[in-house]
Amino acid sequence: MATLLDGRALAAEIEQRLQAVISDGLPQAGRPPGLAVLRVGDDPASGVYVANKEKACTRVGITNHGAHLPADTPAAEVLATIQRLNADPAVDGILLQLPLPAGLDEAPLLAAIDPQKDADGLHTLNLGRLLKGEPGPRSCTPAGVMALLAKAGVALAGQRAVVIGRSILVGQPMALMLQAANATVSVAHSRTTNLAALTQQADVLVVAAGRPRMIGAEHVKPGAVVVDVGIHRKPEGGLCGDVRVEEVEPIASAITPVPGGVGPMTVTMLLVNTVASWCARCGVEMPLGDLVH
Ligand code: NAD
Repeated sequence: MATLLDGRALAAEIEQRLQAVISDGLPQAGRPPGLAVLRVGDDPASGVYVANKEKACTRVGITNHGAHLPADTPAAEVLATIQRLNADPAVDGILLQLPLPAGLDEAPLLAAIDPQKDADGLHTLNLGRLLKGEPGPRSCTPAGVMALLAKAGVALAGQRAVVIGRSILVGQPMALMLQAANATVSVAHSRTTNLAALTQQADVLVVAAGRPRMIGAEHVKPGAVVVDVGIHRKPEGGLCGDVRVEEVEPIASAITPVPGGVGPMTVTMLLVNTVASWCARCGVEMPLGDLVH
């Protein structure tokens, strides 16, 4: 039976470390770290995500500089808000919550965020830094997966890793981080043929396809570590992932639960990026290097 990779427990442990970094660094910095979560419109799922992020900030001592703009806000006004936050010395991290209302193009707005304050690690410059192995804020979900694997002592060097999904948000940066950890990585996507033949080779299988319960026992090598990034609301209530957990749990060596696996780690890595930016901007020592890949 697989060990559960407990994202809630690791998130709580990292939050304690962040609290300590913040309280130790406050005398030098003279102010707490600041994160601005910028929300435009009223996408209901975003409301829950933004509230979770704001609560997590409060728990560790990060000041929330968030703004909630109406759905009909013109692009120029959203841009002006981003520029104001870029210039605000009390703001160390900025996150533009997606999806944006129809009619607002996310690309120029994401590009306008100061790369140093890019708490989501999705700015083109920071994705390029990841590609080149240079330091910079990392995409939160794959960075959270790497932290979970490290905590569980999963050795990656020389191992076969398969990532299902090639989005800029999850799949692509995930593959780069696993490769940087010396795994041999394959990326599967919606046009991959004979998916099971590929995934059965995986020592580490990361599933980020966004398809409820698509991965079953036939896709998994016995003893593999399975990370389920997917998160879906079930029609009958409750949440499920991309993995049929009741089939995979008996054969995998470790698996992330949904909920309570990757989800809490995504929020925590947002806090890590914000605190790392605060350390850099305020000359505070940053003892979080093990969390940045
Ligand atoms: P996306 O829709 O942008 O990308 C999905 C990827 O999966 C695509 O590259 C597509 O080619 C691939 N894919 C789709 N069907 C496939 C199939 N049948 N076989 C192989 N590949 C297939 O989604 P995303 O933004 O990358 O998110 C993926 C999932 O992760 C979603 O369920 C999302 O809700 C979830 N997610 C969770 C967190 C978290 O914190 N837990 C964070 C981000 C995303």
